[in-house]
Amino acid sequence: MYKIAKENLSALFQLIADNQELYLPVKTAGQTNFGVWSKDADVDLDTLKTVKSAKDAFFPQSEGLYTVRKDGKKMSIEPESLKEQDFVVFGMKACDVKGVEVLDKVFLSDPVDTFYAARRDHGTIVAFACHEPEETCFCKVFGVDAANPASDVAVWTVGEELYWKALTKKGEALTETVKELFTDDADGEAAVEAEKENIHKIVEKLPYMNLSLEGWNGDALSEKFDSPIWEELYKPCLACGTCTFVCPTCQCYDIKDYTAGSSVSRYRCWDSCMYSDFTMMAHGNNRTSQMQRFRQRFMHKLVYYPANNDGMYSCVGCGRCVEKCPQALNIVKVVKAFQNQGGEK
Ligand code: SF4
Ligand code: SF4
Repeated sequence: MYKIAKENLSALFQLIADNQELYLPVKTAGQTNFGVWSKDADVDLDTLKTVKSAKDAFFPQSEGLYTVRKDGKKMSIEPESLKEQDFVVFGMKACDVKGVEVLDKVFLSDPVDTFYAARRDHGTIVAFACHEPEETCFCKVFGVDAANPASDVAVWTVGEELYWKALTKKGEALTETVKELFTDDADGEAAVEAEKENIHKIVEKLPYMNLSLEGWNGDALSEKFDSPIWEELYKPCLACGTCTFVCPTCQCYDIKDYTAGSSVSRYRCWDSCMYSDFTMMAHGNNRTSQMQRFRQRFMHKLVYYPANNDGMYSCVGCGRCVEKCPQALNIVKVVKAFQNQGGEK
């Protein structure tokens, strides 16, 4: 197994960035999010969860689609180019990698989203095992192993060393370009196995890891949809949309235009099912109350999505909504409320 000392990471970043774009967790104004690496970037690999997931690397918060130009009586349409340059997303965690799998089922199904597909083709994911999962994590509930990210390259942190293992052809190709910085460690497997065991021990002690999803699946539609529990649960919701913007699996977007003199550009940007004008149509909106919008978010993650995707849930237990909702509403609270039939929350 290959390893590299943490003190040599800058050289690794430089070598990767010599050949392709490199996205990794960067601290700006006290907040850590994925950003493009530069020599001056304040790289932060110690923070377990970035505020937003690395979803932007494949599905940016805002991206141009095409521009319509008018020249006299002639009109022309210029599509935005698809991603053509290879890039690396370094430092994702197992839950967020699973989040990409959730997005794949939406954007790579027929009709394929070509913008997303191009990014997936050109992106290589280097993900870290979670050295110390936190209290808000419940990835195991959704079948995610925090110690074994299903990425192109998996990395384990052991003391001042990082152990590196390519898991896919993309991962092997990336490894070839940087392996001059690695040393081969015959004892690496044992060190990594010990690290995995430690991670699993921490995971077993976390408060939400044994959350039961019994009763939640694609067959639970009417029973859950018509439950009076939603009427109580939704009330504190401010409709701020924070939960959807930090979520690695939320995939809704809006399409908007802006004008610049003789041209009109069309772009798409993330939207939130928590907003009152979400999917507004000429006749109005199908969901006319915040209760309906709140219910939609959780029904989609726990019932509609699994019904359409072989039982796979559209939540990966990253816990960001647990941390970030200003009103302490989150998917754990919803699942527990149904377990307790609206009693203790
Ligand atoms: S973050 Fe909380 S308050 Fe804001 S929309 Fe989501 S559930 Fe509602
Ligand atoms: S619903 Fe919450 S816990 Fe689940 S993936 Fe989204 S932000 Fe993470």
